[in-house]
Amino acid sequence: MNRNQVLPQVELSTTPDALRKVDFCASHPYKGGGFLEISMLPRIAQDVSKIEFGDGFHWKLDTHFEDVHGGEPRQIVDLELNGRLHKVCQRCLKDCSLDLVEKRQFIMVPTETEADEHPIEDDYREPLVASQQFDLLEAIEDEILLSLPLIPKHPEGTCEPHASSFGDSMGELEAPEKPKNPFNILKDIKKI
Ligand SMILES: [Zn+2]
Repeated sequence: MNRNQVLPQVELSTTPDALRKVDFCASHPYKGGGFLEISMLPRIAQDVSKIEFGDGFHWKLDTHFEDVHGGEPRQIVDLELNGRLHKVCQRCLKDCSLDLVEKRQFIMVPTETEADEHPIEDDYREPLVASQQFDLLEAIEDEILLSLPLIPKHPEGTCEPHASSFGDSMGELEAPEKPKNPFNILKDIKKI
């Protein structure tokens, strides 16, 4: 069975309310895209240093069904993110613009158990549990949060001069790039 040949893609409604309840149990694939302002992403909004015109995230989503042996076809979700936000640079403590370009692929599975059983070596396809009111906005926000550097910094050598109260010696003693955030540990495990 190939549902792609049966049902056309449905255009997603892009209001935040609609994105909070997308029916991923429906048998048709989706496509859609839009722009999310920082204010529409509550967990990100509380952590930015300022909001400049143009800050936010363009997103593009495209799904299709793929046959899996011995079961119902699974919906595959391709998500593209492209955007910018501002955080405090941890070197000079000034605002720092962070650009983000990400491509992710997910596989919709019917149960939490199946998500847990998803092979961990599959590092390019993350399982999500489908529901009739799937919070796509939250999933997009999750991906942005996972993609951001844990220690935001200006690119090497571009910090504002005279802004640091730590002196030059601190340059040698910067915190490691990857502190022990459980999400990143999980991601690192998946990459092995
Ligand atoms: Zn800086």
